[in-house]
Amino acid sequence: MRHISLLGSTGSIGTQTLEVVRACGDYKVCALAAGSNVALLEQQMREFSPKLVCVWTPEAAADLKVRTADLGIRIVTGMEGLMEAAIIPEADIVLTAVVGMVGIRPTIAAIRAGKDIALANKETLVTAGHIIMPLAKECGVRILPVDSEHSAIFQCLQGNERNSVSRILLTASGGPFRGRKREELKNIQVEDALKHPNWSMGRKITIDSSTMVNKGLEVMEARWLFDVPLDKIEVLVQPKSIIHSMVEFEDGAVMAQLGTPDMKLPIQYALYYPRRRFLAGDRLDFTALKEITFEAPDPVNFPGLALAFRAGRTGGTLPVVFNAANEWAVAKFLSREIGYLDIADSIEAAMNAHTVKEDPDVDTILQAEQETYAFLEQAHRS
Ligand code: NDP
Ligand code: MG
Repeated sequence: MRHISLLGSTGSIGTQTLEVVRACGDYKVCALAAGSNVALLEQQMREFSPKLVCVWTPEAAADLKVRTADLGIRIVTGMEGLMEAAIIPEADIVLTAVVGMVGIRPTIAAIRAGKDIALANKETLVTAGHIIMPLAKECGVRILPVDSEHSAIFQCLQGNERNSVSRILLTASGGPFRGRKREELKNIQVEDALKHPNWSMGRKITIDSSTMVNKGLEVMEARWLFDVPLDKIEVLVQPKSIIHSMVEFEDGAVMAQLGTPDMKLPIQYALYYPRRRFLAGDRLDFTALKEITFEAPDPVNFPGLALAFRAGRTGGTLPVVFNAANEWAVAKFLSREIGYLDIADSIEAAMNAHTVKEDPDVDTILQAEQETYAFLEQAHRS
């Protein structure tokens, strides 16, 4: 039996991971971590009997301790607790599905402890890929992608030589506002942006998908995961999310991974790699589908993608600023303090104001994150 530590267990990816674990029956959950959803954590603790559980705040921990006093499970808090969950000796694999840069330190700790990483938390690779990937190599651990596009690329690469890749074709749905002009995007409300046409996901990534910022983060994520230069990565809009991504090789062959949009497939593939096993769910019906259509992304009305390419090409701390500015802006948009178009504008303003530091260590990354928040907060107030 293999053991899994699951960070972000109460979220969209976290709960789907537990569905996979429940259906497969041969993984033991040894640690769970979440932010503040103690009601769901309590249920998860009762069902999966982990050895250790982490919640972010002491208040949430106090509440959880009362709720689960009969279980005698150890409960820890904060970054220290999250790191402890990431390096728990029993775990063979750590699936990191927390949202945001809070994922960096536990991922590094888990790699150092020799754990394989199933990575959903893309912000970690975007901002610290230059640290994570060499460290994983040095420690002999695998970084297994959970993001559906990256899992698709990873699946297409099986049995092929990495140096024979000529292009990565990263597919995008284009989000709920595909085809609209900037003028028409001005008054978009939170409720509109939270409706993704194909995928049901956490709030932050759903907004990111609507602005194309998610695709920008994925371009940078792909660059680190597959060790390819940015100019070999192309984004292709494919509105129905049937093709999860493609790889073109130097002989002109294109491999693609297709399927109904279901995150349980990439989650299960990461947990059982290189094995495939049965997964319940809908199958593609090509005659009913009839066609799969493609478009180029729209750089004018959805500038998030171009800004990501700029951040990725410049490197250093600029991807941190791109990511942190987006996190700040999405949170403000969700709390209705800024408008929809202000998201991309905030990212651009923060990037323009930033002086890039090369090859940042984790402290420098987290410092750039805080400076970005402070810059935007001040600009917002004045
Ligand atoms: P959700 O918002 O649904 O879930 C986030 C999880 O992280 C929750 O369990 C939350 O706990 C937990 N969390 C938040 N803050 C902390 C913290 N400080 N310490 C510990 N746990 C914390 O997000 P998603 O599941 O949608 O996304 C997770 C990650 O996976 C993101 O990086 C996203 O970009 C990526 N991803 C998601 C996909 C999807 O389909 N959802 C697809 C591809 C990638 P709580 O609920 O208790 O606050
Ligand atoms: Mg994705």
